[in-house]
Formats: sequence, structure tokens, C-alpha cells
Amino acid sequence: MGKKGVFLCVCQGTCPSFEKMNIFEVLNTLRREKLVDFVAIHPQLCATDGDVFWEVFLKGADDVDKLVVAGCDGTMQKKMFREAFEAAGFDKEKHTGVDIRNMTTEEAIEAIKKVL
Ligand code: SF4
Repeated sequence: MGKKGVFLCVCQGTCPSFEKMNIFEVLNTLRREKLVDFVAIHPQLCATDGDVFWEVFLKGADDVDKLVVAGCDGTMQKKMFREAFEAAGFDKEKHTGVDIRNMTTEEAIEAIKKVL
């Protein structure tokens, strides 16, 4: 069966939009409830090394069926990650972006659960 994963992207960890939540607890809850196969946190996926990260991580990741990135606006994410997904040969339809900015831990968990 294909794998489902959640990445948290947090604007370098310095943006006030992520101050109200405990990012580790958001992911730990999803792990504890066994809702996903893998999780990770990246400080800035839209930076140049974020593109490199996607290329390295997603190359050959044919078994990833769903990739949720929780961070900024989902439409913005689609634009920012498009080239890196193409370079990695990753089907962009498998990506879902969810905006969790300015949410508490519980609100972020609920927002992510809705798109899983
Ligand atoms: S992808 Fe979005 S959440 Fe991640 S660093 Fe860029 S603007 Fe921030």
C-alpha cells in the first residue's frame, strides 16, 4: 500500500505564525494515532535547499501516495514546489498543502486530520 506522510514547514521557526503551537506535539499526535506512515519538520521548504531536499527525498518515492505539507497557504505551496516536484518526477497531485499558520496545537492537528 502507498505511504502517507506529513511535513511541517515553519518559516525558519522564527515566524510568529507558528508560536501558538507545539510543532513536535502536532506530529507526535498524528504518530500516536497512527494516521500517517512518516512525518518530518523542515525549516524552509521554499528555499533553494528545500528544492534540493524535495529532489533527494522524492526521487524514486513511487510508494508515496499522499504528501501533506502543513505550513503556509496550500495554493502558494503548489506554486513554490512545482518545479522541485517536476525535477523529482513526483506527481504534484499527490501533494496537499494545509495552512496551519496562527493555529494552536489542537487546531493544527484538526486541520491536518481533515486532509489526511
Ligand atoms: S514553504 Fe511556506 S511555510 Fe515553508 S518556509 Fe516557505 S513560506 Fe514558510
